[in-house]
Amino acid sequence: MKLSIIVPTYNEEGNIEKLYDKITKYCENIKYEIIFINDGSIDKSLSKMETLYNKDKKHIRIINFSRNFGKEASMLAGLKHSTGEYTVIIDCDLQQNPKYLIPMLNHLETHPDTDQIAMVMKNRNKENIISRFSKNSFYRIINKLSDVNFVNGASDFRMFRRNIVDAIISLEETNRFSKGIFSWIGFNTEYMYYNVEKRFSGKSKYTKKEQLKYAITGITNYSIKPLYISTILGSIIAALAFIYIIIT
Ligand code: UDP
Ligand code: MG
Repeated sequence: MKLSIIVPTYNEEGNIEKLYDKITKYCENIKYEIIFINDGSIDKSLSKMETLYNKDKKHIRIINFSRNFGKEASMLAGLKHSTGEYTVIIDCDLQQNPKYLIPMLNHLETHPDTDQIAMVMKNRNKENIISRFSKNSFYRIINKLSDVNFVNGASDFRMFRRNIVDAIISLEETNRFSKGIFSWIGFNTEYMYYNVEKRFSGKSKYTKKEQLKYAITGITNYSIKPLYISTILGSIIAALAFIYIIIT
């Protein structure tokens, strides 16, 4: 198998067929598999996947979760089941156009020293100012606090060589923050730019609250500095309280 294409999917009934058509169009000359992870969808996503499977058993694989576990769990399950020499993660909603798959693959094949291609969003400016400010602040904070380098705008849209996939799945971390894992494991990463497209159908699964939770997970997983700061602050407050006891 040349390429395993992992598609985390949660309530994407309107996108599955369209994504399949595009992947089929661009990948017709290589050996590939599409691994759909149905992350507890409550719409018709699973039956759409099954229809595709019945039509094209050679290329379609389905992993079906018992409930919604989140995109991190979907990506991990996909990586664990991928059999390709190369593996790519791509969203189901067509914001990440499958037209980039072959250029990414060609780059890895012609650059044996590159282990991973991470796609970086080119057109962040279409986001509203608050969202752009929060995301930029997140990257500033996490890069100050952490030893791992986080590239602003680098997405989960990434293609890996086998060695990277093996390294990622060997980590037993349960509260996963993949953006961090993808750089923490090391190896050679190259960045390529892509235009984020409009979601084809349905709406984003992430509320502002979930995005904040995700940012906090990232910061606390990849830096012990918040722990240092709270230890030092805690000690100062305890010392002051002790002095206050003596005074009173
Ligand atoms: N996703 C998932 N499980 C979840 C939430 C999202 O598998 O609990 C999938 C979703 O179906 C999509 C991808 O992760 O393929 C990215 O989600 P979304 O487009 O909602 O995120 P955004 O592009 O708004 O960051
Ligand atoms: Mg999306």
